[in-house]
This record gives sequence, C-alpha cells and structure tokens, in this order.
Amino acid sequence: MTDLTSIMEELTREPKIAYFSMEIGVHNDIPTYSGGLGVLAGDTIRSAADLKLPMVAVTLMSRKGYFTQELDSAGKQTEHAAVWDPAQYMMLLPYRVSVEIEGKDVHVQAWLYHVVSLTGGSIPVFFLDTNLPSNSAENREITAHLYGGDLAYRLKQEIVLGIGGVRMLRRMEIDVRKYHMNEGHASFLLLELMIKYRRPIEDVWDERLVWDKRSVKNLCVFTTHTPVGAGHDKFPYDLVMKTLGEIVPLSLLQELAGKEDLNMTLLALNLSRYVNGVAKKHGEVSKNMFPGYEINAITNGVHSFSWTCDSFKKVYDEYLPGWANEPELFVRVGRIPDDKLWAAHAEAKQRLISYVREKTGVELSLNTLTLGFARRATAYKRADLLFRDIERLERIGSGKLQIIYAGKAHPHDAQGKQLIQNIFNYKERLKEKIKIVYLQNYNMEIALKLVSGVDIWLNTPLRPLEASGTSGMKATHNGVMNFSVLDGWWIEGHIEGFTGWSIGPAPQELTPGADADARDAEDLYQKLEQAIIPIYYGDRLTWIRMMQNAIGKNAYYFNSHRMMRRYVTEAYLR
Ligand SMILES: *Cc1c(COP(=O)(O)O)cnc(C)c1O
Repeated sequence: MTDLTSIMEELTREPKIAYFSMEIGVHNDIPTYSGGLGVLAGDTIRSAADLKLPMVAVTLMSRKGYFTQELDSAGKQTEHAAVWDPAQYMMLLPYRVSVEIEGKDVHVQAWLYHVVSLTGGSIPVFFLDTNLPSNSAENREITAHLYGGDLAYRLKQEIVLGIGGVRMLRRMEIDVRKYHMNEGHASFLLLELMIKYRRPIEDVWDERLVWDKRSVKNLCVFTTHTPVGAGHDKFPYDLVMKTLGEIVPLSLLQELAGKEDLNMTLLALNLSRYVNGVAKKHGEVSKNMFPGYEINAITNGVHSFSWTCDSFKKVYDEYLPGWANEPELFVRVGRIPDDKLWAAHAEAKQRLISYVREKTGVELSLNTLTLGFARRATAYKRADLLFRDIERLERIGSGKLQIIYAGKAHPHDAQGKQLIQNIFNYKERLKEKIKIVYLQNYNMEIALKLVSGVDIWLNTPLRPLEASGTSGMKATHNGVMNFSVLDGWWIEGHIEGFTGWSIGPAPQELTPGADADARDAEDLYQKLEQAIIPIYYGDRLTWIRMMQNAIGKNAYYFNSHRMMRRYVTEAYLR
C-alpha cells in the first residue's frame, strides 16, 4: 500500500475507464456523499472492483463533509461540519497540478483510497484537495464542503473536479480509454480534452474545425440523473469568464453549452458519444427535455453484498453460494426454506428495533407491521403524503402499524426542513395509536439497518421526478417489498401483489392536471387497509412468497453488477 512505485506501475499498466463524480460514498465514515448519487457512485466502484474492471475514480475531498444532522425535539434541523481525517483512510500522493481560477493558479493534490473487493479486485479513488499552504485561505476551502456555498463556489469546485481531475490523471501518466461523467458536475473535463485535442489544420478557413469534437466525443460517456431542467447546473457566462477565463473561445463554449448560461448537462450531451438516463422512464423524460439527442437508458442497481444484511448474507451463503458476485443466482431463491427466510427477516427487524430503542428510547414491536421511509428530505419525495388524511391513517393503522423515518434536508432547502418538522408533529399527534420515530443523521449504515429491518419500504415521489431511486432496490435484497409510486426503477420492478404494490395509477394512465397528492394518498390508504395489513397479519404464506419475489425478481435484476456489465457492453466498449 505504501509502495508508491508498485502502485503506480499497476495504475499505468493498462488504459482505464476514468469515472468522475462530485460525490462518492466509498465508506460510511467518509462523509463525502449526500445521498443517492454518491451511494450509486460507490456501488458502481464496488461492482467494478468485484468484476475487476480497469477503472479509476476521481472525486473531491469534501474535507468538511456534507454535514452531520442534529434534530431537536420539534424536528428542527441543525447542521454541523462533518470534519474527518483523510490520513486515517488514505494515502497522500506526491503529485501536484494546478488550475487557473480568477487568474490565479490554484494547486491541487490528490489522496488515494482503494476500494478493495473480496474477489481480489481493487479500484483506486482519487480525492482532489486544494487544502495546500501554497493556496490562499479562500482557495484552500474549495474542496471543503460538498454542495455548500454559492454558485461561484460550486463553479470553482467543478473546475477543480473536471479540469484538475484530467490534469491529475495525466500527471500520474494514467492512460484513459473512456471518461465517464456521473452527472454534469464534471463536464469541464470536456474543455480540458478539447484543448488537448485541438489540431492545427492549415488549409481550412473555418476556425472551428481546429476543435476536434469527434475525438473528444469518442472518449466520453455521460450519465444524467436529473429529470427537471432546474436541477441541472447552470452558470452565467460573465461568472464563467471571470472565474475560468476564456480557455476556449466564448463563441465555441456557447455553441456547446447554451447561449444564455453555461449548462453543464448540455455541454456533456454535446461532447459525449454515449449518453444515458438511469431508468427506462428517465431515459424517455430526458429525451423530451433535450430533443434531438440520442439518450439511452441503463437502469441503476445497488451493490448486492453491501446492501444485504448479515442474517440474509448467512442464508444466501448457505442456499445460493456465490450470490454476491453473481446476483443472477437470486433466481433460485425458492431453494431457501420459508422458515429460514422468515427467521432472517425477524433477526434483521429485531436488530433495527434495538437500534431504535438505543437512539430514541422508543420500544417498537417485532410483531407490528413496520413501514420504512428514508431518503433526502426534499419536497418532491413527499415524505408526509402518508399523513394527508391523518384521521384515516389513524383508523387504518391504530395498533397495526409503526413507522420509521430518516433523512437530511439540504441546508438551504427550507421546504425540506419543514417536511421533517411536519413529520415530528404527526408523530406527536399519533403517538397513542401509531408509533413513529425519526432517526437523525441518515447515512449508509443507518440505511442498511432500515432497508433490511422494516417490513415494507415506502416511496411516494411526485412523478416524474424520481429519476431512478435506489433505496427500494436495497430493500429487495433483504426480502423487503416496495410500496411505491410508479416512477423511476419501480415502473420496471413492480408486479402488483407479487413483487410489492403500486401507489397511484400506472404512468400511461396519468391524467394531466389531476390532484396528484389526493389521488395517490387515496390509493395508498386503500392498499394499506385492504391488501397490505390483511396479508401481513392473516396470510403469512403469501407474505413470504412476496418476499421471495422481491429477491428473485427485483434483487435479481436491480443490482450494480448487472448495471456495470451493461455500462461495459453498451457504453465503455463503443
Ligand atoms: C441509498 C441511499 C440513498 C438513496 O435513496 P433514494 O431512495 O434513492 O432516494 C440516499 N441516502 C443514503 C444514505 C442511501 O444509502
């Protein structure tokens, strides 16, 4: 590990896929992720390591993390910097590159973390860091806060990630066969490549032809994750000129990234040979948002080994040996005896109940139907849809339901913060009838406890805003069924009454202008009352069959091994 020469020899042995992501969840205690995007990046790398793909990853240091969430007794969120010590986990490399920001050289160093697989594979992740004495105090902070600060701060971060990242790989003499941009944050890497591939062509009169878009395109893969225009990073050109300077002619930049503002998604769309959305539906939504572009779809998956709890790992090891590196073996889930499956679930549920007791003092019951809901607290996820008709919920669920919530709101997201407080209110109002807990500081460790320890995983996004969603896929690896709005991955994974239940109409039956909240809540209550509660308490056999289907039909497909094999055959080998 400390022998730099042998590490670099290994790194430069063959051309690599260079995977760029603003956030990566490599480890629960390394707080360089905020939610689904970062966890997906981590799962991508974990599967690449298992499959021994020739890949390296580049991200930002985020030395002060996203943040640690503290909730008071009313659900009011306070954020604390999640300061961590890189030296505890990674190795500082002796390489330096610089990027020009506001006319000054900003120096960038890199830390190396290896994601190591049980198969012997390993993927290096480079964490870019501007915290160097040779930088100004302000510039030392560029890689401090994930998604912190204002637009100018974000722009500087993306310059370090995209341009600094390409330069760092070049400095290390790593040969890159494809650049894979996980979301538009890294699109500036394209400008660095454009400069590299600029060709002097003397006998042409058109100046634009010296820019070799084709060579850049052939090298690049872009995955978009955001189904709304407002979610795409855009920077005003005057800010770009002031911060980045005219590293390529402004007219060219406007041609590639939009006339009004520099749109990072558009830049990536124009300079990537292969572009994809993260679920079939999201691919279509993206095509409508950007007509004229060829946009494919590779539906996300989760890393099976990381998202299976210990009791299920034991059962899978016994009945489906080899499952972790070949999740297709879940197709034979029927080999696991019913009582073993149920006992594995009870063990995971008991563990979650103990954790809840330890953290909140609330005693939940092993025999009560438990719903789980955990994800970023932001308006479109509608964490409070379940409470739309609180009397009805009380009538249906009194003595029969308990609910566990978790999730952080972005520090600037007032609506998201309000959502958490609303849930605290409902929790108080219902406490004699339905026990509700809200776990603070949601992270990967809590996520695994939750997705494995509840009976039903609830998801209520407002369509079509859930590009994919991945926590529901984690649940299926632990025999937990989804009860979800038909959006993102669930459109592909849902078979009613078989793998789980839908909330609201099928996508093709949506009526424009309808009150989505009222319609979805109505269906939610009806299914809870007439299907889910009766089966849970009255028909254990059907329940266990559905658990098997969650594993055999959902986990079987929605894993990151399948996802990575598709990236290899459809994107990387093009
Ligand atoms: C999986 C995961 C997410 C993503 O959840 P979605 O349901 O896709 O929104 C977010 N945060 C953490 C900590 C996770 O583990």
